Amino acid sequence: MASFANTLISWYENHKRDLPWRGETDPYKIWVSEIILQQTRVQQGWDYYFRFIDNFPNVRTLAESDEERVLKVWQGLGYYSRARNMHAAAREIMSEHEGKFPKTYDKILSLKGIGNYTAAAIASIAFQLPYPAVDGNVIRIVSRIFGICEDVTQPTVIKRITKICETQIDSKQPGVFNQAAMDFGALQCVPRNPRCNECPFLSDCYAYNNNLVDILPAKKKKSELKHRYFHYFIYLFENQTIIEKRTGSDIWKNMYQFPLSETDSEKSTGKPVFVTRETLSHQVIHAAFYVKNVKKLPKISENQQIVNFDDIENYPMPKIMTLFLKHV
Ligand code: SF4
Repeated sequence: MASFANTLISWYENHKRDLPWRGETDPYKIWVSEIILQQTRVQQGWDYYFRFIDNFPNVRTLAESDEERVLKVWQGLGYYSRARNMHAAAREIMSEHEGKFPKTYDKILSLKGIGNYTAAAIASIAFQLPYPAVDGNVIRIVSRIFGICEDVTQPTVIKRITKICETQIDSKQPGVFNQAAMDFGALQCVPRNPRCNECPFLSDCYAYNNNLVDILPAKKKKSELKHRYFHYFIYLFENQTIIEKRTGSDIWKNMYQFPLSETDSEKSTGKPVFVTRETLSHQVIHAAFYVKNVKKLPKISENQQIVNFDDIENYPMPKIMTLFLKHV
């Protein structure tokens, strides 16, 4: 591959976004823009950036303001801890760094509310230090171009991607490299339908050449637990009761249980004598058991049978049933 950095930077020279903080070398202003953009769209962030800088043009004015005023200026942007942290960090710069924005990556990183990404962005753009700013955009670009197929939600995979960036970063212009990567991810190699046909990496891109553009970056889906509500009915007549075999492709296939009614909410169908729950890999079963002493057992269906209550334990049963039997 031609130098990754060269290709990226020459793309950037022709496509870069016109943002108000572009070309800015004041670490304070870079910091403000990066914090605002953390959870805010560029267009909305733009207005707030000017508003913030108008009110607090430098570290000192921010540090000397009271917190209420900072929050007022921030009002409407949300995630207010960002503003509180910036205010605290500005005071820290005044007290610990003689009012001067720290110039090393580690010192920048130690400021309140500044993580790896923001520290790298400030260090590289303001001080030309070769730290890659690895955010979601960069993770996507690198995993696609270099073919990182492991789950990018794993810290070890992020470390691997960071290592690749460290070897690829243009150490003479790391700030430009980082901003180029940000814009490339925002405009070209976007999450859905990236513009592969006009991409300078097309011939080298692993994802494109292996038909994995829709798959990478790979993220293990968080399996959402489904909640199910099982209501078991224990009909009793002269120590006899009804059990049924579970059929179909659901959980606990071919095991036995009391006649069951399933609902999608907790709504009760009487007063249960026992409630319990069991968490399976993808679902939580909430079980409620209702005893009904009857003068005649209800008519049974094909998968049901009448058994002596004392014999129930001879049938294969899910754990939830044995918990109930233990209880009684
Ligand atoms: S070819 Fe497509 S997937 Fe690969 S870097 Fe370019 S835009 Fe992204």
